Amino acid sequence: MISSALSQQGISPTKALPERDMYFPGTEDLKPDEMRITALGTGQPSVRPKQAASCFLVELGNGDKFLFDLGSGSHERIASQKIPYDYIDKVFISHLHVDHFGDLASFWLGGTVMNRLVPLRIWGPSGDTPELGTKYCLEKMQEMYNWDVKTRSGFVDFRGGALEINEFPYEGVNQTIFEENGVVIRTFPAIHAINGAVSFILEWNGMKFIYGGDTFPNKWYIKYAAGADFAIHESFLPPTLLVTKQGFTPLEAVRVGTQAHTSPEQFGKVMSMVKPRIAVAFHFYNDFDTQPEIRERIRKTYDGDISLAIDYMVWNVTKDEIRTRMAAKDEDVWPSPALRDKLSPSGSEAPFSEFILSGREPFPEVVQPIFDEINEIYKTDLKPEN
Ligand SMILES: [Zn+2]
Ligand SMILES: [Zn+2]
Repeated sequence: MISSALSQQGISPTKALPERDMYFPGTEDLKPDEMRITALGTGQPSVRPKQAASCFLVELGNGDKFLFDLGSGSHERIASQKIPYDYIDKVFISHLHVDHFGDLASFWLGGTVMNRLVPLRIWGPSGDTPELGTKYCLEKMQEMYNWDVKTRSGFVDFRGGALEINEFPYEGVNQTIFEENGVVIRTFPAIHAINGAVSFILEWNGMKFIYGGDTFPNKWYIKYAAGADFAIHESFLPPTLLVTKQGFTPLEAVRVGTQAHTSPEQFGKVMSMVKPRIAVAFHFYNDFDTQPEIRERIRKTYDGDISLAIDYMVWNVTKDEIRTRMAAKDEDVWPSPALRDKLSPSGSEAPFSEFILSGREPFPEVVQPIFDEINEIYKTDLKPEN
């Protein structure tokens, strides 16, 4: 009886399971009408092994992929998704706190040796002065990594080192900042720390995705997220836990937990007005002892569908269904081979001084056979530098 019931479900001791309760990156087709969202950073500003800082990946059935924030620690989680770097070339930054873009440099420059052969495109808000805006920040980042850029560009095809920086006014209300390939992305202001934080709306195929970033509850979120298919909003640790678990003073805890950020009760209030198909809370340490209290506090003000996000949570969203699973992570993952033909690197210009060159030990008896091996396998005629 049992074996017949199992075989009716397609379950067999020698076949792959027909239905899996985990998401295995790189092994599932994305259907043409489907949106897949993966949480790649859900924690608080300080990263920890279980939770990187803010980062959400949105993949669409038309092939487009978008990162919303790229907080500290999130790059390795992006890598775990087995997605060729050329495919993830669009990053939207909600504000310039390090927990929302701290891994951008790693993703940008690391990506150049992980086979990204297209420029990295970044969108981010202005500030009240040019020095507080995304453009200034990223131009300075490029300057800061001058040595890194100079070293890599001579050794690898460096097209992926180009940055396209798109700064938009933070005050824009429902302003369109991206419109390509049937995807529209709009922004509205967030209220967080000082002027210059924003939230994002992504619309595609009749579905609406909202990424709130960090924000105090606000009228724009309530208006423009209304009826969303998928609405992400921060929900910080409640002040009680900030005091007991994180050593905040009571004053710090209520200020940070209810004024700089949104408490679970405030999150619930917002979502009870927005009424999304699913509400997603993030930006708190999500553990066995914090989650019950956070859920209970949210339930005081919201009774709709909810996910308390944790890193590697995955949602497959269509107009008919939202399926929530956890992704398996492969720590042995390697980057995909280049999708485009590679160009030869430009070669370093005067990489070393005479003084440093005088210190080289070239070991020709060891290095020449390595070149011979490569030349034989690939029919090349490469020679070591002296
Ligand atoms: Zn912030
Ligand atoms: Zn934050």
